[in-house]
Amino acid sequence: MIKRRPHVLITGGSRGIGAACAERFAAEGYSVTVLYKSRRGRAEDLAERLRETGADILPICADIRKEEEVRAAVTTANLQFGAVDILVSNAGIASQKLITDVSSEEFRDMLETHVTGLFHAVQAVLPGMIARKRGTIVTISSIWGLTGASCEVAYSTAKAAVIGFTKALAKEVGPSGITVNCVAPGVIDTDMNALLNDEDIASLCDETPLGRIGTAQEVADAVFFLASERSSFITGQVLSPNGGIVI
Ligand code: NDP
Repeated sequence: MIKRRPHVLITGGSRGIGAACAERFAAEGYSVTVLYKSRRGRAEDLAERLRETGADILPICADIRKEEEVRAAVTTANLQFGAVDILVSNAGIASQKLITDVSSEEFRDMLETHVTGLFHAVQAVLPGMIARKRGTIVTISSIWGLTGASCEVAYSTAKAAVIGFTKALAKEVGPSGITVNCVAPGVIDTDMNALLNDEDIASLCDETPLGRIGTAQEVADAVFFLASERSSFITGQVLSPNGGIVI
């Protein structure tokens, strides 16, 4: 029997941390499905680049906030590459505002993207993992989910919820042989931080013991570790690649 490649599904895989995860898993021989919201060009560029290296990669447009779209995407991905072995729940948005300026629609959107989106992705892949009695889920929170950030109350709330979700799910599905862990990055050089000016970056670097912000590849390394056999006895934990800004 031909052994299939293990299959990782990464939400928010068109750019930034998700794209770095896609590159890392593809380089390790995984079949990779990436979900994205609207930037088809970025997802297709990534897919083309990875296919040139011999990787199996499938980009799918699916809004993580919409249950039906996520379910349909997972069905398509399963047909293409076999059941999802690893879920990396990474899709996210950010915004900085005083809490008094945040509309209830913006607040809801933050929670729907980070928390309901995680719920949709987990519900779509979990029955297959439970049936096979194995699987790995890696969620992406943030240092702000650990400590809270001024002017990011909505984001911090959503990211703290991701950590609670991770811990509870780890307890629930551990008996089914499934691990669930969280990566809570510090400040990482992606589009999400494009609004930070040089002064902001310099002051963040000053506050960070390692003296710099992180790269998407460094977060992908942490995700890959938690998805690999090397972390087989680790579940319900939060790993924070953050240069020491939060210790
Ligand atoms: P980017 O802004 O670079 O990329 C965000 C990704 O999420 C894109 O692929 C985007 O798709 C996707 N996405 C957003 N909303 C949806 C949605 N409704 N449905 C499906 N996909 C969606 O972000 P980063 O790579 O920086 O961040 C990735 C994760 O890491 C996020 O959860 C973020 O909160 C977290 N994080 C980031 C940090 C940082 O400093 N950058 C620090 C700590 C945590 P599309 O391209 O189509 O828009």
